[in-house]
Amino acid sequence: MKTHITPRVRFAPSPTGNLHIGGMRTALFNWLYARNVGGAFLIRVEDTDRERSRDEFMQSQLAALKWCGIESDEPLVFQSKRTDVYQSVIEKLLSEKKAYRCFCSPEAVESRIRASGVTEEHFAYDGFCKTADQNPARRSFVIRVAFPEDITELVVSDLIRGTVTFDASLFDDFIIARPDGSPMYNFAVVVDDAFQKITHVIRGEEHLGNTPKQIILYRALGLTPPQFAHIPLILSPDGGKLSKRDGAVDVLAYKQEGYLSDALVNYMVRLGWSHGDQELFTKEELIKYFCLEAVGKKGAVFDMHKLQWINATYIKQLSAAQCCEWIVADVMPELSGRTLRWSDADRVMAVGLYKERIKTGKELCDALVTLHEGPREYVEADVAQWMTPDARGMVTELIQRLSSIDQWTKDQITPVINEVCTQSGVKLVSLAQPIRIALTGGTHSPGVFDLLVLVGKTETLNRLHAVLR
Ligand code: GLU
Repeated sequence: MKTHITPRVRFAPSPTGNLHIGGMRTALFNWLYARNVGGAFLIRVEDTDRERSRDEFMQSQLAALKWCGIESDEPLVFQSKRTDVYQSVIEKLLSEKKAYRCFCSPEAVESRIRASGVTEEHFAYDGFCKTADQNPARRSFVIRVAFPEDITELVVSDLIRGTVTFDASLFDDFIIARPDGSPMYNFAVVVDDAFQKITHVIRGEEHLGNTPKQIILYRALGLTPPQFAHIPLILSPDGGKLSKRDGAVDVLAYKQEGYLSDALVNYMVRLGWSHGDQELFTKEELIKYFCLEAVGKKGAVFDMHKLQWINATYIKQLSAAQCCEWIVADVMPELSGRTLRWSDADRVMAVGLYKERIKTGKELCDALVTLHEGPREYVEADVAQWMTPDARGMVTELIQRLSSIDQWTKDQITPVINEVCTQSGVKLVSLAQPIRIALTGGTHSPGVFDLLVLVGKTETLNRLHAVLR
């Protein structure tokens, strides 16, 4: 009888920094895979590097994942709390002669590298200590795996890359535990993936080269390896490694910059995975359609413009009130304090005017603050085009007429502006553009009547005077 095994996947971050977008995409692919197949998604904290691991990094990584809707289905597993387990597995391997203590000092290894005439990365440990006296009392030692002599090649059957064959001579008796007893990555990952009953290891392609070593360890431990799926790298637009400048920053920086998590998730999933030509997906659709078969082999180029387009699309779908709530929560908590003349309703109205015109929450906040505070400078090209002597004359006239308005409403402002235009024999745009420049510094802004209402009478008159100076 065939028993059904529930798929179990894990995301295994090292808390040595914040969560970058590459890590987020790996987490997302794992999470979507689990949700799609009805399996379990786990988070394991790989914090064996005691010097570089920090709790604050872990907290910020978990916060970033949570912001994207990703949480572990089971309690977190911390490698730093599993020292005894690793120790007992090492004892077992030592007793079965599948691993051995290596007492070679770094200097001794170094001089053998030099004598062998090869560079460090091509140096294969020569098994010097395999037959040495294994008395641990002697001095400091590392633990090395005894690489099986009968193996000539190692085959990784990868769900994305297909069959990848490695020549066994590329590997040596690699180290699995440091002198202080702490486990090396390849060892701890195998022990824990087995312990957590992981069925599918979905991770970045940079780990493909580690997989043969892990297969050796599964064999040494008498365990069947999980299935592997190595997802392609995220590349910069020029095809190189993604750098900070191209957007390889902390996921939470995207939050503060005013990206909606659903937009970022939507964009990140499309980096390497596709479903026909569809670009926009709800979370439900992503869960329904996601599969590893549709993940490409080639590196995926990070395209900031596309991310911004997706973000703008998601922002448009929010109501002005929702959008206002979001930017205050994620982007500018001090928004009310920076737009003090406005009531809550004014603020929502201002958001409604701008939300279709911006790509990020930060741009939206900047536009609101500029509208409220007045421009610090004017766009020169706009001034040159629109602030003609005739336009200046109209603005002077407008100041006169607006000053005598008693109710600062659209109903009262509109006829005044129309009258000035008619009197000068020009279309509305010839006056609307100078007003926009006066109020916001440039001509790219929402409808001028709405802006005037929001800016208020006194401030409008001040800004109209200022633009004439
Ligand atoms: N801690 C490893 C990393 O952050 C995890 C690798 C793996 O998923 O096996 O890259």
